[in-house]
Amino acid sequence: MSSRGVELLRGNGPAPGRAKAAGSPPDSLAGASFEELVTEIIRRIGEDPGRQGLVRTPERVARAMELFTSGYAQAPEDVMAGALFQESHQNMVLVRNIEMYSLCEHHLLPFFGKVHVAYIPNGRIVGLSKTARIVNVFARRLQVQERLTEQIAQGLWDVVHPQGVGVIVEAHHLCMMMRGVEQQNSSTLTSAMRGSFLEDSRTREEFLALALKAGNLE
Ligand SMILES: [Zn+2]
Repeated sequence: MSSRGVELLRGNGPAPGRAKAAGSPPDSLAGASFEELVTEIIRRIGEDPGRQGLVRTPERVARAMELFTSGYAQAPEDVMAGALFQESHQNMVLVRNIEMYSLCEHHLLPFFGKVHVAYIPNGRIVGLSKTARIVNVFARRLQVQERLTEQIAQGLWDVVHPQGVGVIVEAHHLCMMMRGVEQQNSSTLTSAMRGSFLEDSRTREEFLALALKAGNLE
């Protein structure tokens, strides 16, 4: 590793791990504002935080990170409140191609793609726009795609109490694309099922066929 690389990791603070609980910041960092921490990252990269283009960057990063992690302050029942309706419809409801942007918890780099959400009602339906909101509740956190997929399915399952739920997430990960460890065009597909989507293979197959076939609208 280059000496600059070593500096990046070491900084000027105390050596890590000495009489400190895992995960607790050094005393010198605990009182720092988010903006000050970003300024220090910019400095550590070797850039000049006073340079015109960078002066307001810490402020912008703080605001962006606040939005990207706003899901921690939300629960699925919050976003679906007032949008559950009594309805005897018994067939599959499928919302395809919901845009998803999240941050990989291993690199803090974006992963993004599409979510397909389906459920079979059991006496009540949820407003269609709320399916996109529930995706954001979990996408706007530090995530891995597998957990994101499970949490969306479980959130709908817990709040809507349907006969079944199916969720597919298809995403590109910048941590793979930018670092060149995988093919640039590869995407990762994950799925999570609950209820009749697990128990009835015909339901599952109908969902997969409808969700993954090329749509007429695109
Ligand atoms: Zn990653």
